[in-house]
Amino acid sequence: MGGQRKSIDCRDYPSEKNCSLKISGTEDEVLDAAVEHAVSAHRHENSPELRDQIKSMLKDESD
Ligand SMILES: [Zn+2]
Repeated sequence: MGGQRKSIDCRDYPSEKNCSLKISGTEDEVLDAAVEHAVSAHRHENSPELRDQIKSMLKDESD
């Protein structure tokens, strides 16, 4: 660990908004930002399940 960045890319999860947002950073940073984004932009309900679901969707950043 230490410095490994994670990312999540909305383009991998097509939605009615055709969202192209990509978020990268530490796991906690990405999780916080992605949960906020999912709630505000995609009208998901903010719940522990949503956070778990997003966590399972994170990918390792190669750079
Ligand atoms: Zn999005």
